[in-house]
Amino acid sequence: MSKTKFTTTVVHADRKLNPDSGAVHYPVVNSVLFGYDNPQDLVDIFQGKLAGHAYARQSTPTTDALQSMINGMEDGVGSLVFASGMAAITTTFLTLLNAGDHIVASQFLFGNTPSVFGTLKRFGVEVTQVDVTDIEQVKRAIQANTKMVFTETIANPVTQVADLQGIGHLCKQHNLVYIVDNTMTPSYLFKAKNVGASLITTSLTKYVGGHGTVTAGAVIDTGNYDWTQYANILDSFKTLPSQAQALTQIKKKGLRDLGGCLSSDSAQMIAVGAETMALRIDRACANAQALAEFLESHDKIAKVYYPGLKNHPQHQQAKTYFKQFGAIVSFDPVENIDPVALLTELNVVITATHLGDNRTLALPVAQTIYFEMGLENRQKAGINENMIRMSVGIEDIDDLTADFTQALANV
Ligand SMILES: *Cc1c(COP(=O)(O)O)cnc(C)c1O
Repeated sequence: MSKTKFTTTVVHADRKLNPDSGAVHYPVVNSVLFGYDNPQDLVDIFQGKLAGHAYARQSTPTTDALQSMINGMEDGVGSLVFASGMAAITTTFLTLLNAGDHIVASQFLFGNTPSVFGTLKRFGVEVTQVDVTDIEQVKRAIQANTKMVFTETIANPVTQVADLQGIGHLCKQHNLVYIVDNTMTPSYLFKAKNVGASLITTSLTKYVGGHGTVTAGAVIDTGNYDWTQYANILDSFKTLPSQAQALTQIKKKGLRDLGGCLSSDSAQMIAVGAETMALRIDRACANAQALAEFLESHDKIAKVYYPGLKNHPQHQQAKTYFKQFGAIVSFDPVENIDPVALLTELNVVITATHLGDNRTLALPVAQTIYFEMGLENRQKAGINENMIRMSVGIEDIDDLTADFTQALANV
C-alpha cells in the first residue's frame, strides 16, 4: 500500500498496532506493573535488550500507541508523551542541559516557558531571549557555550512568526540543537522537521486533543540532529544509535526521574481527539481568517493581529511555512472601548484562558495572562492594554460574526 495522507494515516494508526484483538481503538491498559512468565524477559527489558513495559511511569501499551501516532504525524524517528506540554518542555531542558550551558530562545513565548528559564538560571544555565523574527538577533546571541535554540512558530498573543527556516540554517551551521514548540501549528499545518528542527515539543492539550478534557504533551525527535555530536549525552546512552540517544536520555533521566508521565486514560483521549485534528483545524483556521477580516473592517476595532492578513509583518513567510495561518486572532478595540465590557457582551464566545478548543475563547490579555508581567514589559512585548486574544473554534461562522456584530453595537 502506498503511503496514505494525513487523516487516513491517523484514523487507521491504532488498529494497525493491535491486529490480535481487532480493537480499532488501542485499548486503555490501566496497569502500573507488567509481569513476565520468563524472568529473563523483565531482565532484558530493564537492560534495554527487549522492547516492553516494566512500570507505567515510563510507558504503557496505550502511551506507546499514542507515541507511535504522534511520531507518525510529525514524520519523526521517535517520540515520548508526558502529562502536559510543560512537562515535555521542562523535562527536555533539564535532561539535555548542564550547568554552564547557554540557550538562545524566542522572546515571544508561552508564559510558563520563560518561567522555566528562571528555574534553569538557578541551576547555572544561561538563557538569552531575542526577537526571533530577526535572524541577525539570533545570530548575535550565539556564544561558545550555546547548546540549543528554542522557539515557537506563531507567538501568542501578538502572532509574530519566527524566522523558522533561517534559524534552521543557523543551527545547522553551528551544530546547535534546534527545538521548535509547534503547539500553535501542529503537524497538519506545519512540519518543523522540514525547517531543520532537531526536536519538536508540543502541548497535545491544545489542537491535537482539541476538546479541552485532558492535558498532555510530547517530544518528537525528527532525526535531523546527529546526537553523537552532542556534548551532554551521558556515557550510558552513547552506545545507542544516534537517533535513539536523546530520546532515551529524556526518557530514562527525565520522564522516569521527574515523573511527568501521561496516564493511559489520558493517552487514549488524546488519540481520539487526534483523529479529527485536521478537520477541526481546517474549520478553525477558516473561521479565524473570516473573523480577522471582519474585525479588521469594523470601525470599533483599531488593530487586528493575524498572520493571514496581508498587512501582517510576516504574512509572506507564514504563507511559505504553514498550510493555513492558525486560529489565534488578537485585536485591540478602539481606545474608548473597555475589553472586559466587550467580552461581557459576547454570548457565543466564552471568556476563558486555554486555546485550540472546539469553542471560541477570548480573554483580555493585559488583565489576565500578562497581568503579572507589568505595564513596562507588556509594552516591550507589543501588548496593548486593551488587547483581546481569541482562540477561534469550530462554530458556524455566521454565529460568530453575528455575536461580534451585536456585541460591538452594544459597547
Ligand atoms: C499551552 C502551551 C504550552 C503548555 O502546554 P500544557 O499542556 O498546558 O502544559 C506550551 N507551549 C505553548 C505554545 C502552549 O500554547
